[in-house]
Amino acid sequence: MQNFDVVIVGAGAAGLFCAGVAGQLGLKVLLVDHSEKIAEKIRISGGGRCNFTNRDASPAQFLSENPHFCRSALSRYTPQDFIDLLRRYNIPFHEKHKGQLFCDRSAEDIINMLVAECDAGGVTRWQPCSVKDVTAEADGNYRLQTDRGPVSAGQVVIATGGLSIPKIGATDFGYRLARQFGLRLVEPRPALVPLTFDGEDWAPFAQLAGLALPVLVETGAADATPKQRKKATVFSEDLLFTHRGLSGPAVLQVSSFWQEGQPVRVNLAPGTDLPNLLLQAKARSKKLIANELASLVPSRLADAWVSADPALQRPISDATDKALQGLAQRLADWQLVPNGTEGYKKAEVTVGGVDTRDLSSQTMESKQPGLYFIGEVVDVTGWLGGYNFQWAWASAYACAQALLVR
Ligand code: FAD
Repeated sequence: MQNFDVVIVGAGAAGLFCAGVAGQLGLKVLLVDHSEKIAEKIRISGGGRCNFTNRDASPAQFLSENPHFCRSALSRYTPQDFIDLLRRYNIPFHEKHKGQLFCDRSAEDIINMLVAECDAGGVTRWQPCSVKDVTAEADGNYRLQTDRGPVSAGQVVIATGGLSIPKIGATDFGYRLARQFGLRLVEPRPALVPLTFDGEDWAPFAQLAGLALPVLVETGAADATPKQRKKATVFSEDLLFTHRGLSGPAVLQVSSFWQEGQPVRVNLAPGTDLPNLLLQAKARSKKLIANELASLVPSRLADAWVSADPALQRPISDATDKALQGLAQRLADWQLVPNGTEGYKKAEVTVGGVDTRDLSSQTMESKQPGLYFIGEVVDVTGWLGGYNFQWAWASAYACAQALLVR
C-alpha cells in the first residue's frame, strides 16, 4: 500500500490549487480525479476565458447559512494574491465588467499554471481514478480504496465540487462522504441558473426569446415589508428572454436567492421616468400606445406587452391617465413566479453543501479530525463574477497551510 501525507479527491480548481501549495510546502501529496480530463469546469468557465477572480471580492458577495464563515479564508488569500501568481506565469488578463478578471487568451492558461504548480510541488496525480471507499483507521490514518489499489494518508481533502453539469463529472461524492462521517449538510440546490415559467403564463413572452435588456431584479416574499425589500439584494445587470423563461446575468444572480413559490420582481425600464414620459406622450401624440412605448423600452418588448392587454391597444391620446400609470407601474415592477429552474444541467453552481457548523473557518478541517472540505462542496456560494473561483483558491490555500502544521 502506498502512503501519502495527504490525499486530495477532486482535481478541479480547489483541489489542484491546494495540491500545488501543499506539495510546495513539503507534503507528499496524491491528487485523484475520476474524470478523463483535468479541470473541466475551469476550461468551460467564463465562455472559455475563465473569470478567475473579482478584484472586489469580499464576504458580501457570498451566500451561506453562516455568512461570516468565508471571511477568514478570503482575507488570507486575496484576489491580488492570485493576480500575483498569474503575473509570475506571464498570463495576460483583462478586467471586463464590475471587477471581473478574465484571461486574454484562454482558460487553458489557468489550468496549465495550476498543473505547473503541482509539478513544482512534486504532486502525484492519478486520473482517471475513482475512489470507492474512505475509512478512518484505528491508528488515526485514512485508508482509501481506489481503482489503482489502496492508499493510506494522515489527511484527506475533499474537493469534489457541487452538482452542476453532471455530464462533465460532477457527483455527490463529497456530500455522501460528509454524511458517512456524521457531518451535517445544507440542502443543495442549483444556483446561477435560468428560471422557468408555466407554458401558459409564458406564452405571451416566448416570442421575445433572444431579447436582452438592462434591468433591476430582486426576489423576496410577495408580502415583504418595504424595509425587508430594501435589505434584499437588487442586481443591476442584463436580462435575457428565453423560450422557457428568463436568463442573463441579472436572473442568474437572483436565482441563487430565489426560493420556490416566491416571485421575482423586475424593473424593465430602470432609470426611465415612465409615468411622466407616457403622460407627456399622451398630451402631444395620437400614435398607438405600443409605438410610444417603443421609444422608451425595446420595441419587441413594447409590442408583446401591449398585445397581451386589449385595453392598451389604442392611441395613447385615448388612454386614461390611470391606465398609463398602471402600465408604467407594471413595467417598473413586473412580478412573476417561476415554476422552477433549468436545474443542474444548466446551473453554474450549487448553493448549500457541507454545513459550515461542522468545519473550521480557519483550516476547513471538519469535526472528523484530518478530514477537510474545500471549494464548492462547502456551503459557501459566490455571486456570478469570479467569486466562486476566488472561494476555491482561498479555501484551498487556508487548508494547505493547515495541512503543514499537523
Ligand atoms: P470543481 O472545479 O467542480 O472540481 C471538482 C472536481 O472533482 C472535478 O474535477 C470532478 O471531476 C471531481 N470529482 C467529482 N466527483 C468525484 C469523485 N467521486 N471522485 C473523484 N473525483 C471527483 N466560477 C467563477 O468564479 N468564474 C467563472 O467564470 C465561472 N464560470 C462557470 C461556468 C460554468 C459553465 C460553470 C458550470 C461554472 C462556472 N463557475 C465559474 C463556477 C466554478 O467553475 C466552480 O465554482 C469551481 O470550479 C468550483 O471549484 P471546485 O474545485 O470546488 O470544484
